[in-house]
Amino acid sequence: MAGIELTINGRPVTVPAGTSVLDAARANGFFVPTLCHDPQEPFGACRLCVVAIKGMRNLPASCVTTVSPGMEVQTESEAVVEARRTILELLLANHPLDCLTCERNGACRLQDYAYRYNAKGLRFNGGKHRYPRDLSNPYIARDLNKCVLCGLCVRTCDRVSERRVLDFAYRGFNTRVATAMDEPLGESACVSCGRCVAVCPVGALSWRSLAGKGRTWQIAKEPVTCTFCEAGCLFDLNRKDGRVIAVTPREPGPGRPLCLKGRLGMELRLVEDAAAPLLKKDGRFQETSWAEALGLTGIIDRMRERGEI
Ligand code: SF4
Ligand code: SF4
Ligand code: SF4
Repeated sequence: MAGIELTINGRPVTVPAGTSVLDAARANGFFVPTLCHDPQEPFGACRLCVVAIKGMRNLPASCVTTVSPGMEVQTESEAVVEARRTILELLLANHPLDCLTCERNGACRLQDYAYRYNAKGLRFNGGKHRYPRDLSNPYIARDLNKCVLCGLCVRTCDRVSERRVLDFAYRGFNTRVATAMDEPLGESACVSCGRCVAVCPVGALSWRSLAGKGRTWQIAKEPVTCTFCEAGCLFDLNRKDGRVIAVTPREPGPGRPLCLKGRLGMELRLVEDAAAPLLKKDGRFQETSWAEALGLTGIIDRMRERGEI
């Protein structure tokens, strides 16, 4: 396929026809921020990826703009930087700014971009959401006050076979990601695959197994491939001070499932804290099997009901 020649920040580049300006810029080493971007399904909602293109009056979203011959793109012009700062200020105006205790501190795209563009959340005043945290799912914590409505979780869950647990609900300021009938996640059809957590760019979705166990920069991630079946799901062993403290799914690629059985199975084998469950029998705690302990807490029963084991 013939290449398209254009310039990005004054540098001539050639990319295949049909490439988005975002991909062209990133492939050539230029930074462009995104919150909502999903390579499988460009969405164009967060507008953080806007760029300046000579001859265009507005700043187009680069993720949904295709390159054309002779295009002249600027990824960090004054107008682009100001537009991004304004978008970030609007997001931060309705955000808890809870970085000190947030599980995603240090691995949060909103935080990184606010730093880069000097957005402090002080420019706009308005209402703030006060949603209760949803801890109904045994593995996933949801804090919708931190949600930036990027929709990545919605589109990702759509691709989980027979799920579609999440969607946007309500309107305007009250728009939020919800399950059917807005029931808690633990009471929905969610199978706890964790794909949504893996793609969430902020602290709105987080792993309960990691809560309070360490800051993101203290936890080393070691990629592993599950060997329980031929699908070969990709997981991360989360190590702190050399010890495995949790197993979490990697960001899912096309065709890669992230089943609960694989994650929990590895967690049971590898998490040292979880080596010996204790059960109170005859008035004192005694070591027991994981099957018995999980069966008693109902997890195995729920997995059976859902056909996961
Ligand atoms: S989601 Fe990001 S910006 Fe928000 S409180 Fe957590 S670390 Fe800070
Ligand atoms: S854990 Fe999986 S099934 Fe549950 S909401 Fe997230 S993506 Fe959907
Ligand atoms: S919960 Fe996370 S992934 Fe889902 S819309 Fe909110 S910020 Fe995006």
